[in-house]
Parts: sequence; structure tokens; C-alpha cells
Amino acid sequence: MSQQKSKSKPKKIFWKRYLSSKYVGFDLDHTISKYHKLKLSILSTKCYTKYLVNEKGYPEKVLKFAFDPKICVKGNLVDIEKGNLLKVDSEKKICKVLHGDKIFNESEIAKEYGENLILDGFEGFSNKKYLVIGTYFEIGAGYCFNRLVLMSEKGGLKPKKTNQEIYSDLIESLIYTYRVYEQGDFYPSVSQDLPGIFDDNTKDLKQLFRLLRKDNKKIFLLTNSIFGYVNLTLDYLLGSNWQEYFDLILMYAKKPVFFQSGSQTPFIDVKTQKECSLKIRYPLQNGNVKDLMKFLDLEQNNEIIYFGDHPIGDVREAKNHVNWTTVSVIEELDIYNNEQSDNYSESIEKRKQIWGDYLFCNKKPSYWGSILNQFSDYQTASLSHFLIDLQKFQKFGALDN
Ligand SMILES: [Mg+2]
Repeated sequence: MSQQKSKSKPKKIFWKRYLSSKYVGFDLDHTISKYHKLKLSILSTKCYTKYLVNEKGYPEKVLKFAFDPKICVKGNLVDIEKGNLLKVDSEKKICKVLHGDKIFNESEIAKEYGENLILDGFEGFSNKKYLVIGTYFEIGAGYCFNRLVLMSEKGGLKPKKTNQEIYSDLIESLIYTYRVYEQGDFYPSVSQDLPGIFDDNTKDLKQLFRLLRKDNKKIFLLTNSIFGYVNLTLDYLLGSNWQEYFDLILMYAKKPVFFQSGSQTPFIDVKTQKECSLKIRYPLQNGNVKDLMKFLDLEQNNEIIYFGDHPIGDVREAKNHVNWTTVSVIEELDIYNNEQSDNYSESIEKRKQIWGDYLFCNKKPSYWGSILNQFSDYQTASLSHFLIDLQKFQKFGALDN
């Protein structure tokens, strides 16, 4: 996928779809909400290391880990058994390997993974062998894994831990950090530094939702985040009346499983934690796409336009299982345009030293780049960019485009 190609996605078709669409849905994190990613990564790393030291008996020097953006990037895979961080291309060929501070050359990769360099047993999901670093929330965990494997190999962990044990401890720290709003340091830290963590796109968001309403679209939220965090984020970005912006509010949805055909997980009322049928403007959690589609009662599934950043959880599964019209929000497109105001851009050159661009791998599309290209109908660097397109559309009308 080239930038040129992503720009030349067929807008005319999109506008036709927009006109015929009834629902417009949004993921929350990195779609509606934009982060100062370096701060987010530093904060999450602190939360993981504190848990490892306090709850799992890791040495206090682990608290001194300072997140380094060149070690782990969005899109990496953690090879749990071998203790490596990987990057794979569109054909699942391994193009980069980092172990501790060592970057493998091609013959070293072939020695470790076989002559064809193809990664076995990977279909885009985390599994027993690989952890996907799919968002900026997990980058700190990939960084910690890399550092702890190195520390263990140098005899710095007593008793010594296997790579599998380090991985299991990290997964526990991730669950502890994000699963319950009232525990750990992550959510209180975010709430004490909202302007430091979030990029302020409030004005654009409100304008975008107003335009969608003007076009008689129904708007829904479909996020994996838990209620406390959704409330914290949207109260900050949209105000205390944020629920009024949405017709359906679906959270802790467990995408990609939410979209998969076998899933029959019922919707749960957030307040009572009891099973509940879908209701307008009422916060619900869990659920499955089959019940959602029955409730929406549409003639065509592509009458839903859905915006999300995750190549699998938001884009591929929504397209594959229910054929929604998918718009991927790819913040990394801004990097190519040198427009990124985020302070993470300061570390872009550092990251590129090892990993290169998110969407590319040795001049071929990366695995994630190819998924986004194949399964998204439209791509945008941010909702603010999309707003500009929508305003143009509203000014001139779809048929003039
Ligand atoms: Mg997201």
C-alpha cells in the first residue's frame, strides 16, 4: 500500500455509501480519542513495572525501566518462546527481529525461523505463541518483555524466569492495569493529567457529530474500553452530556470476538450487571454482532459505516463477518505527511532505525498495512481529516464530487 494509493481510494463510491448509510459507528481509543502516545507509553510501562515488582517479586531495579520508543513499536509481535520482538510483511515473512539489544541479520533470522522466513501459526490474533502489540496501550508491555528477557539472560532475575513466565507475569500486569477502573495507577494517573494524555480534538469531534446528525445518521459507540474509562475520556472530550451524542453505547465489547459468528455473548446492563436487550442511549457492555444486527434491522449490512484503528478488531473482522463499510483511522499516515504535532514524532527517527514504517516492511506492505488496505473501504489519518472531507461534501454535494 502506498500513500498515493491510500489517497486514491474511490471517494465517489464512499460518498454514495455515506448517502445510503443509516448508522455511523465509532471505536473510542485512537479513533475518537487521540493520545499523546509517548506519554501514554511511559505511563503504561510504569504501571506494568510497579505491578511486577509489588505483586510478582521482580527486583526493584525494574522500576527504573524507562520506556524507549525504538525498542518496541505498534505492530510488533512478541515471540513468547524465543524471547524476540518481530515484524512481518504481507506474506507473513519475518523481516525484522530484535532480541535484547541484538538486531538479527537475514541469515540469523533464517537460522532461527527457517530458510523461507515465514512465521508459522499466526493469523493476526494473539495466541499461545505470539502476542500482538496492536495498539499504543501494549507497546510498554513489549518493551518490558524485551528488557526482562535480557535481564534474565544476564542473571539479573533471581530465581531465573523463563520467557513464558515473564510473558505470563506481563499479561497479569496488563489485566490488572486495565480491567477494573477502581484498581491500579493507570486510570487515576490519566484522570489527573487529561490534557497531557489526550490530544485535544474536542471542537472537531463536536462538529463531526453535528454534521452526522444533520444528515440524519444514527451514531453508535463500539469500544473495548470499560465504562469508567469511556466516561472519563468522553466527559473530557465531549462534556458531561456525552451520552447524548450517541444512539447506542456499547463498551467492553471484546472485539474481535464480538464480530465472530459463533459469539452469542449477551449484552449486559452496565449499572445492574444483568443481561439486557439493546436499548437506545443506554450504556451496555459485552454483546455480539448478531444481536446488534437484528436490533438495527437494516436491508444491507453496508448501511453501517464503522470507524476504527485496529486492523483486526475494527477493520478485518467487521468487513469479513458482517460486511460493514469500514473506515480505518491510521494515525501513522500523518507521519508521512510530516503533519504530526504529537510529541511522539520526536522519536520517529529513533523507531525507524530498527523497525521502519508501520505500514511497510522492506519496501513491501507490512502485515498490518496489507490488512488495512485489503479490508478497509476508506482510510483517513484522523477524524479531523475526515471532517474536512465531510464539510467539502456537504458544501458541494455528493453528486458534484
Ligand atoms: Mg481503538
